[in-house]
Amino acid sequence: MKIICIGRNYTEHIKELANERPEEPVVFIKPDSAVLPKEQDFYIPEFTKDVHHEVEVLVKICKVGKHIIEGFAHKYYDEISLGLDFTARDLQSKLKEKGLPWEKAKGFDGAAVIGKWLPKSDFKNLNNLNFSLLKNNEIVQNGNTGLMLWKIDELIAYVSKFFTLKKGDIIFTGTPAGVGQITTNDYLSGRLEGQELFALNIK
Ligand code: ZN
Repeated sequence: MKIICIGRNYTEHIKELANERPEEPVVFIKPDSAVLPKEQDFYIPEFTKDVHHEVEVLVKICKVGKHIIEGFAHKYYDEISLGLDFTARDLQSKLKEKGLPWEKAKGFDGAAVIGKWLPKSDFKNLNNLNFSLLKNNEIVQNGNTGLMLWKIDELIAYVSKFFTLKKGDIIFTGTPAGVGQITTNDYLSGRLEGQELFALNIK
């Protein structure tokens, strides 16, 4: 199983990190070892002093595909969820400065939180989903999939040009604005259309 992540997919988030607006989707991979086991707390690793939360809508691939045409992309997933792309921002900034790959800053153990999966048929329009992240029961990130620069089906078409998508692969579709630092004793929970899909403690 691989986790394919999209960076810079929401304009307001691009602005908050003073990044350039990309001409094509920004893509990176997290290894399967990055998945935080269900019901476990997240321990801030010792190599960073600045882990950020990034709440994102997730898509689970349900059959193998390569060079998928956008019009057929909907056939390749039937479940969606919400998750966190934990990012060691201090380390990522150093790597970005030097033009080096981000993996250490985004692919470390526990850096991928995956919520409960829901059938996509539960939702009328996947391009109009509200989602949010709460930190200590206060909303810190709010997004709507309608604000994505590249929508789910476009992302599937794009990434499948480079990577064969396999059953069980997960796509992290990018974070909206409001990313920020987590600290010990924080409690994070994520909601998609009002339903809580994950909750965890930070240690
Ligand atoms: Zn992200």
